[in-house]
Amino acid sequence: MEHRTDRYPEIREAVRALCANFPDAYFREIDEARAYPEGFVDALTKAGWLAALIPQDYGGSGLGLAEASVIMEEINRCGGNSGACHGQMYNMGTVLRHGSDAQKKKYLPGIAEGSLRLQSMAVTEPTTGTDTTQLKTTAVKKGDRYVVNGQKVWISRVQHSDLMILLARTTALAEVKRKSEGMSIFIVELEQAIGKGLTVRPIRNMVNHETNELFFDNLEIPAENLIGEEGRGFKYILDGLNAERTLIAAECIGDGYWFIDRAAKYAGERIVFGRPIGKNQGVAFPIAEAYMGVEAANLMRFKACDLFDSHASCGAEANMAKHLAAKAAWEAANVCLQTHGGFGFAAEYDVERKFRETRLYLVAPISTNLVLSYIAEHVLGLPRSF
Ligand SMILES: Cc1cc2nc3c(=O)[nH]c(=O)nc-3n(C[C@H](O)[C@H](O)[C@H](O)COP(=O)(O)OP(=O)(O)OC[C@H]3O[C@@H](n4cnc5c(N)ncnc54)[C@H](O)[C@@H]3O)c2cc1C
Repeated sequence: MEHRTDRYPEIREAVRALCANFPDAYFREIDEARAYPEGFVDALTKAGWLAALIPQDYGGSGLGLAEASVIMEEINRCGGNSGACHGQMYNMGTVLRHGSDAQKKKYLPGIAEGSLRLQSMAVTEPTTGTDTTQLKTTAVKKGDRYVVNGQKVWISRVQHSDLMILLARTTALAEVKRKSEGMSIFIVELEQAIGKGLTVRPIRNMVNHETNELFFDNLEIPAENLIGEEGRGFKYILDGLNAERTLIAAECIGDGYWFIDRAAKYAGERIVFGRPIGKNQGVAFPIAEAYMGVEAANLMRFKACDLFDSHASCGAEANMAKHLAAKAAWEAANVCLQTHGGFGFAAEYDVERKFRETRLYLVAPISTNLVLSYIAEHVLGLPRSF
């Protein structure tokens, strides 16, 4: 269904045409089998959609964040889950912004054509969680190599990636002036790493999201795989967050519209007490209210995109868009499930699958409290709480 705030109709139409080859049953079967949607991700890659943000000089399509976000939105709006492939769209940003010319030439064209998958980014650790500057994984320089030891958790899509961005501490916390200093990022070539110092252990989770624990035991990485300057890795990771937050917001918007459309359709068709359930305001009003929430969040998502694409600062808007969109999608998910009554729990309606999938975004890649802290501190000038 078309909605009032829709922009970029040509992109929408083209992505929808591709998604039409992967109907609900495809994603349902993948979910049931806890499998990876390889056929779908291959089709998106071959069509060039995941290379939207890579400049044309490196073989990408050089689109703005607004267009890229529409691609992600449409995937979710068509019933799919961008979580299987969004890393390929935005993880390359660290290489693009902070990599050397040699690294950009080595990696970006392959990422653009899909022969190199950079689906994974390893930041989170089990003992430190959101308090990233306290991370314990170390990378110690020895000659022309860095030797990595430590552990990561929730690192997604490692089994469907050739490369992984790794954040590790290169200078001990006690030796840096600020806790945000002394961390560095590296490109890990996974084939050279798995079984040779890197062990990957999948985590079975509520969503069919391929994610893992990683154990580093003297993993050696060539020194030339350091991205940018040693010690500035945390800043480099932060630089990529606005794009990531905004793209995730768009995915939530896509989910939100999917839930609203399904709820409205079902409410119009399901006859109970001799009339469509949607005739009852107790059924119709929550759908209308959830729709308003998605529409409002969508405006903030496009505001964040427009600021980003005009190179203006957009930290507040990107965070607000992610937060509002994740909440609006979750509200729409609840309403959609309730509207379907018992059938909402049946796998064949796909509501329960999308319900699980959209819930993730209130926690990852950043949890709601941390967005609220950001706005309180950086926008409202309230004292820092941690
Ligand atoms: C399916 C999935 C995929 C993921 N993929 C990746 C990935 O590819 N790469 C990666 O690096 N990470 C990934 N993550 C990790 C994700 O980014 C983290 O789970 C998320 O940032 C929250 O961190 P945590 O789980 O350690 O929670 P914690 O930091 O332990 O926080 C737990 C709860 O306490 C709250 N909290 C903590 N501190 C405060 C505070 N000071 N004030 C108020 N509330 C607070 C949080 O908001 C949260 O609700 C993934 C997670 C999941 C579930």
